[in-house]
Amino acid sequence: MIRKLCLIAATVLLSVAVSVCADKPSEVANAEQIIDKMTALEAANVKNIERYTPLVETYVQTYTTDKETGRAPHGDQWFLGRVSFKGRISNDIFVDQAEAKKATVSHKMFHRVASLSPVGRTWEPSGFAQMAIIDKDGFNRQHYDFTFVKREYLGTVRCLVFDVMPKSKSGIGRFRGRIYVEDHDYNIVRFNGLFVRPKEHTAYAHFDSWRVNVKGGQWLPAYIYGEESSIDLDGKKLAFKSQTRLWGYSASLRRSPESKSAEFTAVLVDDSITDQSGSNSGPLSPLGSERAFERQAENNVLEKLEDAGLLAPPNEVDKVLQTVTNNLIFTNELIIEPEVRCRVLLTSPIESLTVGHTIIISRGLLDVLPDEASLAAVLAHELSHIVLAHEIDTRLAFGDRMLFNESETILHLSMAHTAEEEAAADKQSLELLAKSPYKDKFQTIGLFLKQIHSSHDALPNLTRGRLGNSLVDRLGNIMANAPELKKTDVQQTAALPLGARIDLDPWNNHVELTKAQSVAALNAHEKLPLLITPFYPYLNRVGENSPKSETKPNLGENTKPSDDATPVEESKQIGRGGSE
Ligand SMILES: [Zn+2]
Repeated sequence: MIRKLCLIAATVLLSVAVSVCADKPSEVANAEQIIDKMTALEAANVKNIERYTPLVETYVQTYTTDKETGRAPHGDQWFLGRVSFKGRISNDIFVDQAEAKKATVSHKMFHRVASLSPVGRTWEPSGFAQMAIIDKDGFNRQHYDFTFVKREYLGTVRCLVFDVMPKSKSGIGRFRGRIYVEDHDYNIVRFNGLFVRPKEHTAYAHFDSWRVNVKGGQWLPAYIYGEESSIDLDGKKLAFKSQTRLWGYSASLRRSPESKSAEFTAVLVDDSITDQSGSNSGPLSPLGSERAFERQAENNVLEKLEDAGLLAPPNEVDKVLQTVTNNLIFTNELIIEPEVRCRVLLTSPIESLTVGHTIIISRGLLDVLPDEASLAAVLAHELSHIVLAHEIDTRLAFGDRMLFNESETILHLSMAHTAEEEAAADKQSLELLAKSPYKDKFQTIGLFLKQIHSSHDALPNLTRGRLGNSLVDRLGNIMANAPELKKTDVQQTAALPLGARIDLDPWNNHVELTKAQSVAALNAHEKLPLLITPFYPYLNRVGENSPKSETKPNLGENTKPSDDATPVEESKQIGRGGSE
């Protein structure tokens, strides 16, 4: 009876909503029709999503409550893999170890952190990936009650908001919560709630799952935020927050067996390929050959990383990194051949590396950088590896050595340096910084490194390098002389939360500096250095303009620049994120 009343109310409201927004004004649908349209489209969208095998990264932080700062992290987990939504994917976010060993899920990991959760079970990565789909085979009026709530804009996309309840006896693992349905075609663009009625000894978590509009009008899963402040596992309580990101959709189509064989039979002579060797003056000298061979090894690694979806294609963020690198190169009068390039690794762990003459910085590291000087310190360290000729392994210039499975990418392409090389690069980078526009910023650089160092025990998986070296023990002298970390001082921004700077396009892996306005922390609970926060992407439809990105102040403004600390060239667009 109650449901009937709800539906009548929804019908009245929606008649108004739809008569305003439908493409054909004459088309006045009622609630049932809209719900049927939306659920039918969702079933079709799930079929569409099954065509792809995107990369999925889940990063989890466990925490206890802290009187001063609100949240004290005391552990973390990081998973990276490729997910297929075909077949069964577990709802559970925890599994028994015996279950985990069965490896029944189609969630192939690049790297799986095998440590136990605090309650003696392993985290189940596919449990987080599952939060990308509401209900694979039963999202309809047969299994659920829908109640229209309101209309609301998410970004530029106007949505109809419904509360969704599974009917009694509709089975285990159904969704309960709120859904946001865009009002052109009735695609679900966000759903927020949890799966209910778990099996015994399993745990489900609350989540907020977002889809973004990509090529061809598709809405594909991109961001999932998870949170539980007191999840009960066999009588033990656990608090955690998680961020799951999906990307690499477009490239995953090319990886399918059908398209791979098609690609092979369609090898043609392509006239548009230009000479990339950079030498148009005939044969190479012995030294020229040496450099070309090293560049070959470098390019092999970059191609492999990009092909695996780990490296962003060349983009605008690279140019910002390039500008700061050039500041270091010019002021130190360095001559480096071939020229230094910069790229972005798409993963969250805070790390940087050098592949030949290419400096690579992870998205997670870029996110948490408080200012331009700290970025310069990271770049100076990597530039030092280049200056000191810590050369790339030229074995990688041979094609056969690049033939390995995607799942072994991280294993084969680790570019971590030895402890001696790290120490030498630290020493060299101090010299580079001392002659650079950042020479008066050692205090803020030290503060940032101190934050990374002091977070290592609580967040070992975030602060550990996977392909390169971590920043945990970098520039010990500068760290030692830096000011004290003040957990509760909102004026001090040692590092930003994850996700503070970089937006990632899940379709083509392009990254850009976020257009989100920075907001000043008002109290200690809002400082959140290196911590997980909920996602709030600015949704818009492909082809529609996103909000104009204002010219942002350069990264250096977080600290007061002294007169002679003006960079040679300002790195455009990197806004400071932390405090205003
Ligand atoms: Zn290094």
